[in-house]
Amino acid sequence: MAKSYDVIIIGAGPGGMTAALYASRANLSVLMLDRGLYGGQMNNTDAIDNYPGFSDVKGPELGEKMYNSIMRFGTEFEYGDVQSVELDGNTKIVKTDAGEYTTQALIIATGADHRHLGVPGEEEYSGKGVSYCAVCDAAFFRDEDIAVIGGGDSAIEEGIYLAQSAKSVTVIHRRDQLRAQATLQKRAFANDKMHFIWNANTESIDGDGQKVTGVTYKDKETGEEKQLATRGVFIYVGMLPQTTPFKDLGVLDDKGWIPTDEHMQTKVPGVFALGDVRAKDLRQIANAVGEGSVAGQEAYNYLQNLND
Ligand code: NAP
Repeated sequence: MAKSYDVIIIGAGPGGMTAALYASRANLSVLMLDRGLYGGQMNNTDAIDNYPGFSDVKGPELGEKMYNSIMRFGTEFEYGDVQSVELDGNTKIVKTDAGEYTTQALIIATGADHRHLGVPGEEEYSGKGVSYCAVCDAAFFRDEDIAVIGGGDSAIEEGIYLAQSAKSVTVIHRRDQLRAQATLQKRAFANDKMHFIWNANTESIDGDGQKVTGVTYKDKETGEEKQLATRGVFIYVGMLPQTTPFKDLGVLDDKGWIPTDEHMQTKVPGVFALGDVRAKDLRQIANAVGEGSVAGQEAYNYLQNLND
């Protein structure tokens, strides 16, 4: 028989962990599921310097600290790759590759993953020079000339990280202005190892059949095609919501993100969403944590009203 909990949280990133903290402190039985290690994207982040209280903490270290602090109140943490969620009245049936669980209050905190560029060579050379994780792969490109594609916070933050060990980092961006926050821009422009190619569309990632050898891009102003020789291409062109298991639940917008009200309530009563998976503009640890506290408390309120 499916095991039942007051609250099930899918995703153990900073927002999911905070929701678990608030729900378990309200004496609810809480199951937190994840298909990987707790910590979410913090595990792929080197240094975090925009989370209050920590001047320069390593991502995995912050994840560990959060996990240890929230688990003191009785949350159960289980491995589970969620395949789908079905509704039976107010009951939500969560189906994972490892079994089924039921709950009245479901909190979706599955986050977002890196979008692919969709150019020739990207899939072929994935893991052979194409990467989406600087922290994981920087060591393979020590003292090399590296390319980074994108102009947002991820591209610039990871570019700065890569520049610590690379010979040079060239950012290829499709406009003449970065989207990244001002402090990151300032650090990147002040870094001698960082170079920029503006107004350039990446056309392909080229290789010799075994590994990446360069990037072909088109200058948008002149229409000219050019090559940049490199063995490493790090792609940061935005995020995609991790919402496939919820496609039939009636909670997604037309791009696959989950809209909620200010109580983190989705269109389905008793289904809440928080953090990067929500339809919103700013995706940060700080606001994921804030939304986690709201979702945990609102799950409690929802269950109180159901039982009244
Ligand atoms: P993002 O903010 O959506 O930026 C994506 C970048 O990729 C933009 O510069 C965009 O260009 C470019 N791009 C998109 N599609 C492209 C394509 N097909 N070809 C070439 N370039 C393309 O994504 P992100 O940087 O991954 O950040 C995601 C969220 O996480 C944001 O909310 C961000 O603030 C947050 N984040 C925060 C931090 C931090 O606070 N330290 C660190 C990382 C991420 P345009 O500018 O022309 O649109």
